[in-house]
Amino acid sequence: MCGIVGYIGSKTAGPIMLEGLRRLEYRGYDSAGISVIGNDGVLRTLKSTGKLGKLEELIAEKPPEGNCGIGHTRWATHGAPSHSNAHPHTSADGTISIVHNGIIENASILRVRLESQGVKFQSETDTEVLAHLIDCLWPKGG
Ligand code: GLU
Repeated sequence: MCGIVGYIGSKTAGPIMLEGLRRLEYRGYDSAGISVIGNDGVLRTLKSTGKLGKLEELIAEKPPEGNCGIGHTRWATHGAPSHSNAHPHTSADGTISIVHNGIIENASILRVRLESQGVKFQSETDTEVLAHLIDCLWPKGG
């Protein structure tokens, strides 16, 4: 079973989400990651396989600035435990970031449909399908 945390507030999101993920460690996981929206509006994603200590090192090396974020510990169902399959998953332009718990039953149908529209996938997960699907359906400004 995976764990999901989210934060929005006045504090720096990274350490708070890391603490939240620590509290969920008992549920078991194979990889972990976070996405944080910076004050510049850019999403930054850090993820790693294995224990949270590795993610903590990444956060310490390059602390993501920002007061809003999502975090995830993954229990793989679609694709091996790997860096590319770890959550969060993002849309191609990096403006949408997704974490998800469970299984998207029609993910393979949606994947084939999105691939036929030119979407390139970075992972084997069902979750990434959702990031691209939202991106395709999201009204684009013009
Ligand atoms: N089905 C998703 C995956 O394999 C989420 C698994 C989970 O609940 O952690 O990445």
